[in-house]
Amino acid sequence: MSKNYRAELVGAFGCPIDENPTGVMEEAAFAAMGLDYRYLTIKVNKGDLAPAMAAVRALNMRGVNLTIPHKVEVLKYLDELSPAAEIIGAVNMVVHENGKLWGENTDGKGLITSYANEGVSVEGKTIMVLGAGGAARAIGVECALAGAKKIYIANIVREQGEELVELIKKRTNAASEFIMWEGSIGVPADVEILAQATSLGLYPNVHEKPDIDYNTIRPGMVVSDVIFNDPNTLFLGEAKARGAKTINGLGMLINQGALNFTLWTGVEAPVEIMTETLKKEFNL
Ligand code: NDP
Repeated sequence: MSKNYRAELVGAFGCPIDENPTGVMEEAAFAAMGLDYRYLTIKVNKGDLAPAMAAVRALNMRGVNLTIPHKVEVLKYLDELSPAAEIIGAVNMVVHENGKLWGENTDGKGLITSYANEGVSVEGKTIMVLGAGGAARAIGVECALAGAKKIYIANIVREQGEELVELIKKRTNAASEFIMWEGSIGVPADVEILAQATSLGLYPNVHEKPDIDYNTIRPGMVVSDVIFNDPNTLFLGEAKARGAKTINGLGMLINQGALNFTLWTGVEAPVEIMTETLKKEFNL
């Protein structure tokens, strides 16, 4: 019987990338499912994405994750995009199949899955997103595509925020409104889900939190954060103290990783093992 000594290769391209824990989680999942896959965490500097994407083809890699600063630039090296990635205009994962590179964005889907795991549906809901960067775009568009009624976008730069609002209004069925983030902004009374999508609170700046009027967070409101290192952010602490149901950024990270795993392997991801591996990694 002939043996196969060739492992399937996946990985992440980004810079900075050294502290990205995704590989540990994916490798644990591959091992648990008995799959001969390797996840390589690769530093690809800004300006070097063209040869890196050519290498995905040349090395017959199964796919890659893209992170800062490549999520938008990668579009020009892809053959096909998922409908959501096309609207968002950014890709965080690529599948290489039959010589074609297909791009998807699993960031927003990861958050929606972590909401669902907590019994929270975005359908028919009014949601406020803090920020208008890459994560905010994915969250705003995916929540709108998943049936949210209205998406407020609050941002400190008007142009970027208004652009996302126009995108949601034009390409989805959801209503959308821009909130200029100047000083301490309040959460509008009709908001049911508040999604923090700025980089505030990310390690080592764990003492930072978004400048909002925390007293406008009502008991029972769902409040989530994208920050996963450390997932116990000051922002979520303030929300919890006001009686909100809080959802941290670890779930989003795990669920987008699980989705990537399935898109590459065709196998259901061992989410519990991925969760335990990441928690251990973060000493939680
Ligand atoms: P970007 O740099 O694209 O966006 C950052 C956003 O934060 C921008 O809207 C920026 O506003 C805003 N911002 C920065 N400083 C402030 C401030 N002082 N007050 C208000 N807003 C501010 O980053 P990403 O969207 O790619 O990532 C954001 C965070 O999400 C990162 O910490 C990342 O680690 C995390 N993330 C987590 C994931 C997960 O799975 N849990 C997945 C993806 C990302 P402006 O640009 O207008 O100045």
